[in-house]
Amino acid sequence: MSSNSSDDNSDSSKASSSSQKSSSSVHSVEVSHEPINLRAHQPYIAGYARSNYSGCRECQEDIPKDSLRLGRLVADARYDGYTPIWFHFNCFFKKFQPRTTGDISNFTLMRYEDQKLIEQKVQNHSRRRQAPISSFLVEYARSGYSTCLWCDRNIPIGSVRIGRNDENSDTPLLIGTPIPRWFHINCFARCRQKIGFGSNRSAPEISGFEDLKRFDQQVLITKLPPLNENRRTSVKNEYGAEASSSESLSFSSDDYSSLEESLASQSNLMYSYIDNLVKLKSSELNALLEDNGYDLSSMSDDRVDKIYALADAMAFGTLRSCPKCGDQIIFRIAGFICVNEVCDYTTSLPARCPFFVNSWLKNKYQFLEEYQYVRRDRVMPKTQYGCESYYPVRGTRFDPGEQLRLLLLGVRKKSRRRARRRSSYWSRKTS
Ligand SMILES: [Zn+2]
Ligand SMILES: [Zn+2]
Ligand SMILES: [Zn+2]
Repeated sequence: MSSNSSDDNSDSSKASSSSQKSSSSVHSVEVSHEPINLRAHQPYIAGYARSNYSGCRECQEDIPKDSLRLGRLVADARYDGYTPIWFHFNCFFKKFQPRTTGDISNFTLMRYEDQKLIEQKVQNHSRRRQAPISSFLVEYARSGYSTCLWCDRNIPIGSVRIGRNDENSDTPLLIGTPIPRWFHINCFARCRQKIGFGSNRSAPEISGFEDLKRFDQQVLITKLPPLNENRRTSVKNEYGAEASSSESLSFSSDDYSSLEESLASQSNLMYSYIDNLVKLKSSELNALLEDNGYDLSSMSDDRVDKIYALADAMAFGTLRSCPKCGDQIIFRIAGFICVNEVCDYTTSLPARCPFFVNSWLKNKYQFLEEYQYVRRDRVMPKTQYGCESYYPVRGTRFDPGEQLRLLLLGVRKKSRRRARRRSSYWSRKTS
């Protein structure tokens, strides 16, 4: 798959290097207006349980077939891609706090009402971006080897260090316990808001505080006071508590509600096909895709991904190949990209042609018999991209204001480069 015809590599790399200059091309104009990164890695995934046998990693109970489930995508060493670890809808949000729905793979492919359920949870979480108090701990450094996440300097053995458990990286999911990221006291005090130790929190709440010497307790109390009322209201604004609640209620805006209306009816239309396409055998799904000129070898092997691609084609038309390199175009996040990893083509309005159904499939399935191609444009949601990139920036100096969050969620991954490979757009295992 990765050795996909080496001879067109040279062409497409030429295409991508020239793309920045050629503003005369219609497509590169579109690209430059694209507000979100359609190729971004998404750490989470939404889906419907395909059987009754997938378990929730949080509560260990089964997830009923067809129910909405959410997962964390973890890099899988056994093959080149990501594997989801699944959770019940509610269990997922106990554990994770995606910042935007753009961090959730397949979000825009869920049923409209389920998109709204997810959106609501994500908004609630981003409004109160406090980490649970149980995430924090304080102790005397047991070795001299830990490094402060804020200043990147060593924490001497025996000195007081404050940690925040890193629940969002892959490691705790794989080994079962969260790993603390350590800070000097002064450094922690400086960045407390950023890492979710909010204004109402105080030092004695931190686990391990009781075990410190009286003197060190006093130091902590002085350095980490609960912030005063004035400060608190300004913090509230900073987190958008008031601002975002009025924003999210801006349904009165005509533009917004008409966009939501079209998204809802579009989702219904796609699911009218999806609910029928699930009855097809895999060979029949492949036949439909191939008859319409889709390149199966460069698409996801996953049955559900094929169904999503076919529902898109039936509702809006068969996707033509990439105008830059001729490779397959696929839907991702809130737009379309070329599967070729060296081609930078992205668009929100891809070229399409009528969807074709061959006669033996028409004879077999009534919904295909009744199908009639209607030309429509697929409406894109205003998904915000805010990926909780969990790639580390460790060892590099950074602007503390901007990057700490990335660091916190970060864990060093050998597979860092792998994430950018094209296979990562879809290769996942399913259960
Ligand atoms: Zn659960
Ligand atoms: Zn430090
Ligand atoms: Zn291309």
